[in-house]
Amino acid sequence: MNFIEEIIEKDIENRKNDAKVHTRFPPEPNGYLHIGHAKSICLNFGLAKKYNGLCNLRFDDTNPVKEDVEYVDSIKEDIQWLGFQWAEEHYASDYFEQLYIWAEDLIQRGLAYVDDQTQEEISAGRGVPTKPGTESPYRNRTVEENLDLFRRMRAGEFADGTKVLRAKTGMSSPNMHMRDPIMYRILHTAHHRTGDQWCIYPMYDYAHGQSDSIEGITHSICTLEFEVHRPLYDWFCEALQIHHPQQIEFARLNLNYTIMSKRKLMQLVQEKHVMGWDDPRMPTICGLRRRGYTPQSIRNFAETVGIAKRDNIIDVSLLEFCAREDLNKVATRTMAVLDPVKLIIDNYPDHQTEELNAVNNPENPEAGTRIVPFTKELWIERADFREEADKKFFRLTIGKEVRLKYAYIICCTHVDKDENGNITAIHATYDPATKSGSAESNRKVKATIHWLSVHHAKEAEIRLFDRLFDSSAPDDNEDGTSFIDHLNPNSLIVQHGWIEENLTLENAEPHYQFERIGYFCVDKEATPQKIVFNKTVSLKQ
Ligand code: ATP
Ligand code: MG
Repeated sequence: MNFIEEIIEKDIENRKNDAKVHTRFPPEPNGYLHIGHAKSICLNFGLAKKYNGLCNLRFDDTNPVKEDVEYVDSIKEDIQWLGFQWAEEHYASDYFEQLYIWAEDLIQRGLAYVDDQTQEEISAGRGVPTKPGTESPYRNRTVEENLDLFRRMRAGEFADGTKVLRAKTGMSSPNMHMRDPIMYRILHTAHHRTGDQWCIYPMYDYAHGQSDSIEGITHSICTLEFEVHRPLYDWFCEALQIHHPQQIEFARLNLNYTIMSKRKLMQLVQEKHVMGWDDPRMPTICGLRRRGYTPQSIRNFAETVGIAKRDNIIDVSLLEFCAREDLNKVATRTMAVLDPVKLIIDNYPDHQTEELNAVNNPENPEAGTRIVPFTKELWIERADFREEADKKFFRLTIGKEVRLKYAYIICCTHVDKDENGNITAIHATYDPATKSGSAESNRKVKATIHWLSVHHAKEAEIRLFDRLFDSSAPDDNEDGTSFIDHLNPNSLIVQHGWIEENLTLENAEPHYQFERIGYFCVDKEATPQKIVFNKTVSLKQ
């Protein structure tokens, strides 16, 4: 049980909130969700499920400058893909009128005032944590004057940045967020939902807790950087005497080799360092989906990482481990040769095709079997042959035997080379008595390799991915570099290889294991003429 569950169970025991649990996931629709958000989604929806409660989806859309419906739609798609369904869908912008009414209420009770100072003057006045700040010269305006000015702010009489509404919390708290925080700013910008209805917009701190309160949220879970905002969250709820949810902070997910700020991910997209938000190298949920991650593997990852109270950095290989573990259960096996070299079985009949049986998924007998054609000329992986092999190399080399998966034991005899000394074909002989599954096939060899019939195999584009950054902490710019400087130039390698002929775009399974290589999925850019695969993760580390 993690510390948040402990808090919740105590609350249930004490029948706080009538022993109900109501959480929410509150994204700002200013970008696509990433693996860090997935962590928060699994936590909030997971807690609601565990305690028979509800979880809302609330768009924290209080900054019209950066927000867009494109992001709203993608966020909904990603949450559902992860396997969660919200109880209610809300928008902070739906509460603008209520928030405004409450703001007038605070003004009337002498708890908020209109300040004409510039942003710089306000910041300077806040001072430093060790010394009280200085009060704004506008702090002691009368209630009437404040009400009049605030109404005129709403009516659009003032230009952006000329006035703000501030809460009167005092100027001496060591917590800078508690020094007369700004509640409203003027922004003559259309909002993606409210259009031109408003030209004043509430700040995060004034909107968030009140939105939680309106929705009857019981536990408002957020990341550690909001710990210093909690006194303000509490202050507004107390001042307005409204339902008071409990804010609980946990450590955000950090992954090495990974950037997780929406602003920086946006920069990668805009500067075309990647193919888009859903580039398979991106840590976005849509990127992981395109890469071939399963929702289950991401949920398992979130569970494995757990909930911490202190910031830490998780090794990205844990995410890859979770992908592998789940894909092993669900992926359809197939043979593919990514870097081909021709193997000719000299003693195999010239025009013969044998239909061999291959298992689709040893982890799932229901997946059945398929036919793989075997002929005299095969593609094998270039790396599975070595002309000069040391004792540790058990795959194909002249004079040695290997098994061809589902087929026969072969012995390599010689190679053909072109004038530059490159191998153009490998020659071997096969032993007909060693057919896989036959009674006499109990002879042991040290290695089994995969193959495809040259005559039958189909061409495919195969995209291999490496980490997008070659630094474990690409965000670390103490040496004056930017995360852009740490992009790995070899993060995408495109290969043209061969796949089984029965694998078509129309009948493609969601996930494949290319035997002996790794897990792959069909990319959205695939066409019936040219199938394209993304490598999700290799078989082993
Ligand atoms: P970013 O810093 O990437 O822009 P954000 O915190 O501004 O992210 P929001 O849309 O405000 O993005 O986040 C929605 C929810 O997801 C918030 O509750 C936030 O705390 C949570 N969240 C964001 N990033 C992480 C992370 N890395 N780990 C866990 N939770 C996260
Ligand atoms: Mg945020």
